[in-house]
Amino acid sequence: MADPDAALNFIIVGASVAGLASAIALKASRHNVLVLEKESQLGGPSSIPNGCARVPPNGSKILFDWGLESQTRAKANIGSGFDVYKYDGGIAPDRDFVGINRWNPELLSEARGDFVQFRHQDLLRILYDEAIKPSKFLQSHDKLPPRVTVLFGEEVVSVDCDSSSVTLRSGEIHMGEAIIGADGPGGIVRRALLQEEDIDPESCDVPTGMALYGAVIPKALVVEHPDLATFYEFPESTVGMGSNRGLITCAAGKEKDVTIWVYTPDSSQDGTWTEEAELKLADVMGSCDPQIKKLANLAGPATCVQIKECHELESWVSESGRVLVLGDAAHPFPAASLHTYSTTLEDAAFLGKIFSHTRNSERVPEFLRDRCALIREADKQYIGVVTAADELLEASMRVNQAAGRNIMDGEESNLQQMLDEMRMVFSYDPADDADEWWMSWGRMRGFAEQ
Ligand SMILES: Cc1cc2nc3c(=O)[nH]c(=O)nc-3n(C[C@H](O)[C@H](O)[C@H](O)COP(=O)(O)OP(=O)(O)OC[C@H]3O[C@@H](n4cnc5c(N)ncnc54)[C@H](O)[C@@H]3O)c2cc1C
Repeated sequence: MADPDAALNFIIVGASVAGLASAIALKASRHNVLVLEKESQLGGPSSIPNGCARVPPNGSKILFDWGLESQTRAKANIGSGFDVYKYDGGIAPDRDFVGINRWNPELLSEARGDFVQFRHQDLLRILYDEAIKPSKFLQSHDKLPPRVTVLFGEEVVSVDCDSSSVTLRSGEIHMGEAIIGADGPGGIVRRALLQEEDIDPESCDVPTGMALYGAVIPKALVVEHPDLATFYEFPESTVGMGSNRGLITCAAGKEKDVTIWVYTPDSSQDGTWTEEAELKLADVMGSCDPQIKKLANLAGPATCVQIKECHELESWVSESGRVLVLGDAAHPFPAASLHTYSTTLEDAAFLGKIFSHTRNSERVPEFLRDRCALIREADKQYIGVVTAADELLEASMRVNQAAGRNIMDGEESNLQQMLDEMRMVFSYDPADDADEWWMSWGRMRGFAEQ
């Protein structure tokens, strides 16, 4: 008979945002975690400067709740909003300004968070330091603190969903009560779940024909060019709306280096966040404002990540109920989406909260299945918020700007709906949701078992 007070042993594949955040949340629920990361160092090779990790209030609230507010404020740039311009403003000497959106203080206070712009690497470092920090709490069964161990340079090459084990490239095998795939959209754990559903992992994610090129320009270099002031002055983030191309810039971290992301049809390279793109950023810009071109010319090495229509897994949990995916492995968003980091932090917070209610390993499948159903519903709403810009929307934004309003605050129904959805997404609290699930369903099942 299993000891009902014994901590569970989780294995997490991947030490990026999903993996490290899940380790923090499970440690707080007094479980043991082994994290296996294929790269030899946190965040992978350092030859490509890291871009911006945008964490909206629903994500930063989780960091604050975990006691990481001072670390966040020490490293991150708190975003004020964004300016919207046309990507290709035509022959006018100045950029074609559509309007400005300031993050509404009421919305932020309702959401209990800030709109935070980290350097990706800084966010990873904060999560890593917190994950490996010794716990103040003891596990009730053996009076030992819960342990988080992170091993780098350990690539998982196969996952056995039935025995809940992983095999490393070295041949070593690790077993746990549950395996969490936090290894991204191309990861081995998502592949294992796709195969269970008879889906071919090689062909199920279909390129849309667009790629995201990303690069970083040090602030010291940008400020030498006063005509580029819009990229580094208030509100320190811009959107460039184009047809078949688009631009996002944001000033990341305390350094406020400018991250430039360009959505372009000019490359079919299936690259990653850590390898240098075959083409230079300046070569894939197409027709754009001179200022945008100038910024692109200042950029260092770029990365190229394809935008794919990713297959949605039927279930984020294996048939055995012992293996699940979280973060981009569960719900791959298009690269650099607004909600990718916050949704990933929410996954982790929910998981940790659910496993604070039980130490019964027999109940792993039940908890995970219900959790996954809930997030999938939330995801559909997020994607609705992210897929925005069209001509009608642009016209509504211009009307608002002309009337001296925030471009998202107007009475036009499409903008109002976007704002309402954003308010709902930002104010989501995964820990409350997990508690509610437990009070309504999980607890009752426990009584029935007794
Ligand atoms: C190095 C890097 C830099 C990034 N920079 C940005 C950025 O600047 N802006 C942005 O918007 N998004 C960025 N992203 C994407 C962003 O991290 C994710 O979209 C989001 O945070 C969800 O993260 P995740 O942890 O689910 O997945 P990911 O961040 O993709 O992490 C997956 C992790 O799993 C590891 N892994 C994969 N396969 C294996 C295996 N077989 N065995 C062991 N480990 C494995 C990977 O090395 C990686 O560390 C970056 C991703 C990476 C990997």
